[in-house]
Amino acid sequence: MADTDAVWGCIVVGGGVMGSATALQLAERGVRTLLLEQFILPHTRGSSVGGTRVIRRAYREQLAYMADIVTGSLSMWKQLEDKTGVKLIVPKPFVVVADRTVEGVRSKARTLQTAGLPYRLAGGSALRADFPALRYPVGFTGLVDELGAQIRADKAIKCLQEVFSQKGGVIRDGVKVETITPGDVITLRTSRGTYCTRRLVLTCGSWAGDVLAGIGLHPPLQVMPINLLYMRKSQGAPISVREDFPCLFDDDSEVGAFPSLEHPDTIKISFSQQGGTDRGHTAHPDRRDADMAAQLAADQAFLRDYVTKHFPDFENQPCVVERCMYTNTPDGNFILDRHPAHSNIVFGTGFSGHGFMAAPVVGQLLCQMVLDLPTSYDVTPFSLSRFPRKTSSL
Ligand SMILES: Cc1cc2nc3c(=O)[nH]c(=O)nc-3n(C[C@H](O)[C@H](O)[C@H](O)COP(=O)(O)OP(=O)(O)OC[C@H]3O[C@@H](n4cnc5c(N)ncnc54)[C@H](O)[C@@H]3O)c2cc1C
Repeated sequence: MADTDAVWGCIVVGGGVMGSATALQLAERGVRTLLLEQFILPHTRGSSVGGTRVIRRAYREQLAYMADIVTGSLSMWKQLEDKTGVKLIVPKPFVVVADRTVEGVRSKARTLQTAGLPYRLAGGSALRADFPALRYPVGFTGLVDELGAQIRADKAIKCLQEVFSQKGGVIRDGVKVETITPGDVITLRTSRGTYCTRRLVLTCGSWAGDVLAGIGLHPPLQVMPINLLYMRKSQGAPISVREDFPCLFDDDSEVGAFPSLEHPDTIKISFSQQGGTDRGHTAHPDRRDADMAAQLAADQAFLRDYVTKHFPDFENQPCVVERCMYTNTPDGNFILDRHPAHSNIVFGTGFSGHGFMAAPVVGQLLCQMVLDLPTSYDVTPFSLSRFPRKTSSL
């Protein structure tokens, strides 16, 4: 039978990390599942691009419950490593530094303390002793989240999709969902024919605003394109990038930097997004590159200056530049919810720069929600109704 003649148990729209993790959970529960992706996989147009993401539990207390979710996800990532024999997790301490915004660092320390996770506070010179590649003034406060890690992002998505296929799941890429007609059997009109399904999960990343508007939902999302610069270690510099550079986030300037797992002897540096900040750069995901020239120049100037000041063992000209998109919510927290009028449609969006590490648990929750099962974690903090409601007539 052709895909388009079947009524699927569940269709997941969006083949990024969230859709792939959700589809795998559904297939593992024996649900006949189809994963639809608009671009040919793998692609570099969404938010899951690249080979490195950071895993950390140093969250401000408002999002303290994320520490548990990340711990749960980390053990699921390790199960995926066991299933596939592919090494995905690389241990690496996560360091937060601040001068002006020290209360945020203290709040993150309290989250780790409450969760019983090891951490320490260190000033600029103590940080340098532990991580010789860093230079921060003595007055800076640093928080070291000892159990931080990195994940091989591109490999992780490939593993999720491979195990999904092994469990009987079907992936169709190059298929863009154009319209959704809700009902007991939901109809999806796509660029490649019409598909029918009893349940639907929408994990459309930066395109979520468009897709959800088509079924009358208008979450407050801001799509923010971001430039990622790879900076190479200077020739002869007496440091080891792998040993002497942590995953680092500067709470004052919202700069994030960490060793790249893609390119040897380089760090990856960008503006990071950990919560609701509006840097004023927004775009439609289909026109991401159109207005980027001015932003690229401004970002590069700031980040190069940052490298000169704080990481003097690195060249301050990027050897590679990539682009990626954050999909932010006003409070920097995820949205995981079901359609208020159509309970067989659920959606996950607004992952605001910290979604990747949590994807296995997000996939589990979206799967449980669409199958009407009790959820493994409290999903009320993720509900769309925490924002003022704005729905159209659909
Ligand atoms: C620069 C940067 C750094 C980050 N760093 C970290 C980090 O260190 N740690 C961390 O945990 N997180 C990090 N994140 C966040 C994390 O990468 C994202 O939260 C996560 O990748 C979001 O995945 P997604 O599946 O929601 O989106 P995507 O990966 O964009 O996937 C959505 C998919 O849906 C598809 N789609 C959309 N509309 C349709 C349609 N109509 N029909 C068919 N397909 C459709 C898209 O093509 C896309 O492939 C970072 C993000 C960025 C941008």
